Amino acid sequence: MEVAGKRYSYDDKELDRAEGEVIEALESHSQQPFPDPDRWLEEQVPPNILLTTVDAMLNWARRSSLWTVLCFPACCAFELMSAACSRFDISRFGMEIMRASPRQADLMITAGTLTWKMAPQVRRVYDQMAEPKWVIAMGACGISGGMFAGSYAVVPGYNRIIPVDVYVPGCPPRPEALLNGIRMLQDKIAKRSLLEEVKKP
Ligand code: SF4
Repeated sequence: MEVAGKRYSYDDKELDRAEGEVIEALESHSQQPFPDPDRWLEEQVPPNILLTTVDAMLNWARRSSLWTVLCFPACCAFELMSAACSRFDISRFGMEIMRASPRQADLMITAGTLTWKMAPQVRRVYDQMAEPKWVIAMGACGISGGMFAGSYAVVPGYNRIIPVDVYVPGCPPRPEALLNGIRMLQDKIAKRSLLEEVKKP
């Protein structure tokens, strides 16, 4: 071999031996592949990424934070108050906050007999509630007027003046029944579709 006008000569066997030593040394240190620098990412993906739909996410948020407007016209209200206290603890369902302002509420629980004299005010409160909004008709009076159904002064069910989503029968219904009605409403909210909401006129 000639480099810069100088001639070098090497023993071929010596070259082969040196080359063999280099290869063997490299091979002996190369039993395991180098770790992939992005491997940590692969391991983190399954426990940290949750796939869902916009509907499921939105419905979960809505059904987990229902804000109730005050609407306590008669005796069913005592069972509602009981449901809100520590023994039955309505806050387990994300709805212990009861609002005096309909603009800060999305749920009306109709806890009591409704008279025609009071009906326009209830309708106005409903109209002022934030969308989307729901109604639970609580008790026989809320569903049909109850024991006062034949009276000229009593509305025979809140569904005559506002749309009702869930009916909870009883006179009065116990707090457990109201909590069951709330769970039913939450199931109903869980099935809502954002697309259908947008399409609504
Ligand atoms: S259903 Fe019974 S407890 Fe409830 S408001 Fe009517 S009369 Fe009172």
